[in-house]
Amino acid sequence: MPTQVVSARVLGIAGPVERSGRTHRAPHRWPEGGHARGPSPGSALATCARLQFPAMSVECTCCARSVDWWVRLRSHPDLPICHDCLAGLNGQRDGQLQLMTDSWLVTGMEPIFTVSDVANSVAWFERAGFRVWFHDDSYAFAHREPDLTVHLAQAVHGESPGHGALYLHCHDADRVAREWALSGVEVDGPRDEQYGRREGSVTDPDGNVIRFGSPMDRVIRE
Ligand SMILES: [Zn+2]
Repeated sequence: MPTQVVSARVLGIAGPVERSGRTHRAPHRWPEGGHARGPSPGSALATCARLQFPAMSVECTCCARSVDWWVRLRSHPDLPICHDCLAGLNGQRDGQLQLMTDSWLVTGMEPIFTVSDVANSVAWFERAGFRVWFHDDSYAFAHREPDLTVHLAQAVHGESPGHGALYLHCHDADRVAREWALSGVEVDGPRDEQYGRREGSVTDPDGNVIRFGSPMDRVIRE
């Protein structure tokens, strides 16, 4: 099954991110384990969740693995499906939706907060219960399960802290750029970034930036 998660190794070897302007922004998606800080599977918090919702291992109907967490089809409550297989089904749905709508899908979105002091912001987000991972001294990610990741970007080049932007995940950044360009929207990029993503950006009339990106190794071609 294709995955959108960039490995911790890929993110870990990334060098300094180009910071020549406000449209050049670091990556990207929460790594699997790696340098994450805060509650992780098996931690006290995860244990607490298990105590509240005691799990029982079952065999996934789809992949036949023994899993602790699963969902059941409403029409067939005897058929448990593990979270991985459920994600695979959702991926199939997304592919169909893309065909049906003949357009590109937003597969995820993440706010980018411009901050005056990344370390200070990281401390605050940790206190607020987020898991935090540093890309480098000037860029970090604060994550809460399952889908919220806030990018914390050090203000550079006269940027004002407190201003946000939006990061859109998509299947094919080139397709997004092409459609926006055809409609007359000025598009910067997309280009391959050293941390393994292909990214571009657009800027609205007031200077709000929308960055968009897809994995470099998972491009869906029409
Ligand atoms: Zn499964």
